[in-house]
Amino acid sequence: MSGQRVYDFAEGAREMRELLGGKGANIAEMTRLLGPDRVPAGFTITTEACVAYMEGGGTFPAGLDEEIAAALARLEAQAGKRLGDPDDPLLVSVRSGARESMPGMMDTVLNLGLNDDSVEGLASRTGNERFAWDSYRRFVQMYGNVVVGIEGRRFEDLIQAEKRELEVSLDVELDAAALRRLTEAFKSLYEFPADPTAQLHAAVAAVFGSWMGDRAVTYRRLNHIPDSWGTAVNVQQMVFGNKGETSSSGVAFSRDEVTGAPQPSGDFLPNAQGEDVVSGVRTPRDVSELGEWNPEVSEQLMGILRTLERHYGDMQDTEFTVEEGRLYMLQTRNAKRPAQAAVRFAVDAVVEGLLEPEQALLTIDAGTLETLLHPTFDPHSQYELLAEGVAASPGAAQGEVVFDAATAIAAAAEGRDVILVRSFTEADDVGGFHAARGVLTSEGGKASHAALVARGMGVPAVTGAGTLTVDEEAGEVRIAGEVVLRAGDHVAIDGSAGAITADEVPVVAPEMSTAFETVLGWADEVRRLGVRTNADTPEDARRARRFGAEGIGLCRTEHMFFGENRHEAIVAVILADSDDERREALLRLLPLQQGDFESLFEAMDGLPVTIRLLDPPLHEFLPPMREVEDRLEVARRDGSDEVAAIEHELSRVRALQEVNPMLATRGVRLGILFPAIYEMQIEAICRALATARARGVDVHAEIMVPLVDYRRELEVLEEQVERVAADNGLTRGVDYAVGTMIELPRACVRADEIGLAADFCSFGTNDLTQTTLGFSRDDIEGRILSRYIEMGVFDRSPFETLDTPGVGQLVRMGAWLARSAKAEIKLGVCGEHGGDPDSIEFFNDSGIDYVSCSPYRVPVARVAAAQAELRARA
Ligand code: PEP
Ligand code: MG
Repeated sequence: MSGQRVYDFAEGAREMRELLGGKGANIAEMTRLLGPDRVPAGFTITTEACVAYMEGGGTFPAGLDEEIAAALARLEAQAGKRLGDPDDPLLVSVRSGARESMPGMMDTVLNLGLNDDSVEGLASRTGNERFAWDSYRRFVQMYGNVVVGIEGRRFEDLIQAEKRELEVSLDVELDAAALRRLTEAFKSLYEFPADPTAQLHAAVAAVFGSWMGDRAVTYRRLNHIPDSWGTAVNVQQMVFGNKGETSSSGVAFSRDEVTGAPQPSGDFLPNAQGEDVVSGVRTPRDVSELGEWNPEVSEQLMGILRTLERHYGDMQDTEFTVEEGRLYMLQTRNAKRPAQAAVRFAVDAVVEGLLEPEQALLTIDAGTLETLLHPTFDPHSQYELLAEGVAASPGAAQGEVVFDAATAIAAAAEGRDVILVRSFTEADDVGGFHAARGVLTSEGGKASHAALVARGMGVPAVTGAGTLTVDEEAGEVRIAGEVVLRAGDHVAIDGSAGAITADEVPVVAPEMSTAFETVLGWADEVRRLGVRTNADTPEDARRARRFGAEGIGLCRTEHMFFGENRHEAIVAVILADSDDERREALLRLLPLQQGDFESLFEAMDGLPVTIRLLDPPLHEFLPPMREVEDRLEVARRDGSDEVAAIEHELSRVRALQEVNPMLATRGVRLGILFPAIYEMQIEAICRALATARARGVDVHAEIMVPLVDYRRELEVLEEQVERVAADNGLTRGVDYAVGTMIELPRACVRADEIGLAADFCSFGTNDLTQTTLGFSRDDIEGRILSRYIEMGVFDRSPFETLDTPGVGQLVRMGAWLARSAKAEIKLGVCGEHGGDPDSIEFFNDSGIDYVSCSPYRVPVARVAAAQAELRARA
């Protein structure tokens, strides 16, 4: 702790945002840059003081009041006015300002320092009685609302009553006498403190307290901002945009904040204070009209926007006030902007010579780039929100509600657009994902099966829409017991925003703009990490390749066992009594699998294709036991000749039941216990390789063994692969490679000996997270996740962003061990984290060679990998 808890604006700088908050640090920087005449003076109370306030259970740390008093005295000396002076009072604003901006989430108090005496001084000094009383009534209202906690509606009711009385409709039509009456009425709602020092103390405490307010807490959860940061408080001399028609308040962006086009944008309102511009009570004017209102001010503002942009090397979002023709800048910050504006700015900034490409790359929030590839709801459209869920897979989609995969497939075959609506999804719904335009579930979050599969396929999805009850049996969706959707009804979802509506909403289609291509080109020049894709179908593979994927890092073959004849065949394999029967079923699958692999090799001609041998527990392919038992009962009752067959099926299904399938016969264990299945897959890969090659395709096949713990497991499989390949005339190291997934803690710890046996290792960070943390990846969402975030155990799901201190250390150790055993080994990451910018930064610094992610994340990963490398070099 630095000790000093209050800093004058003149003492701060841009680098001090952790201590002074973003707003405080930027005001300080702006004061240096534009000079004290353009930026009203003031001081910042540090985030550390806020943390101490919270730790002290809501009391100021010892000495803080004195530090504030000293800073206030300096401010008064500089302003030549005193807070509460009955002749010529200083007024201040008290505003929050955390390290990251949290717009509108915390409290603000304006016009502080007014009371029954000082309002008279303000009126006589300015010769503007209406202005003085308007400022006072705003203060009493804001103080009552923000500091004392009186509902805003009660003040609004009194204002409405006054307007009715005077038969006027606008606030600006209330004269000084009316405002005076309103102020009195407001003061009767609570005990208003006349002492400005007491006002200031309480306002600062209220802003500190608003850090833990519901709005702020929710915003932080959604944006992964830790509670422990606290907010700074900025106390700044008021300047007035409400002093008449030569005054105004406004917000201005240095460029168009939606498109990124080079013209500044924003709004302003003559004769108004800042809150009027944002509150929407009066319609503001476009900042492009500022020149008509006051050409000199307009020119000054445009010049300042350019200066700020040049100084910060980024698009700026500012607030300004014009007081009787004089322009003041109240704050500036890097503009939050949609991906399209971010990309446009980056490219334009380089063309204009404002930034170098490497600097421009760093101004982009890589995580948002995915939205550029998916259609979204037209932002200008109006619709009624039915419910909200987790924005699980970006893109907008609409169609008829269907409740099961089979109906989705049938409907799609007829050319109808459908949305698959389920409480949650499972492996055998996957066919329905392909057929549907979008997926909506009432349970599960960003790492649920529905979310993962949908993202992988680029199908928009909203998951975890908790207010919905999806009753698949009844074919209904209900909210609080009331039916809101039935099968066949229209529904639209926006998986980029988590929005659900029954309205028809126009969607806008994306294009890979040339600006986006330019940015990706820069990223490719810089990045060290390779970027591959997780793809199971040739369509996904082609799409990913268009987005710049440099190969397939993970093909999950289990998805290839769904679809009519395939599912039947794999069930026959599992249920088979004899080897002959099993072999026959496998022979049916062999050409189908071969075809799958051929088309993948073709789509990825010239690039590596990593095919993972079957991974999920076998029983996932079997019908639920309950269903078989029911069938048996019916068959017995009817005396059907199917009884023996169903009895046999039931005994097999029973035999394959496992208490904890995720930790049972999965991955390589499956290969060891049921070698025939892997043998068929290996054979199919070899044949596909030979056939594709014969057609001139440049094949780089990599066979990957999942869920390995022990080197011996891998060896058993390698022997099998090499034997089958040799039978097909293929040689390891020449025609194909064999590697493994590292997705269990033991495999990380023994990565040196495992690495010795492998040509490559790919970290499966989904299972590695599951097994390291002992959190089931299918059960953490919902209850556990939200509670843990609330309790501050972590601030985001470890399945979304790698738990670097825990799981990450295992990855780092594994990479180091594998590399020390075999320097040339190739190391990848193919869990969901491979597409997450923060995790990518960690992988870049951990000796990983490539990441692999879903197709739509490929551009995100390219940019994130470049940013990681740039930061590592800095
Ligand atoms: C993993 O575990 O990280 C992985 C990529 O495999 P899956 O998600 O298919 O279990
Ligand atoms: Mg796995």
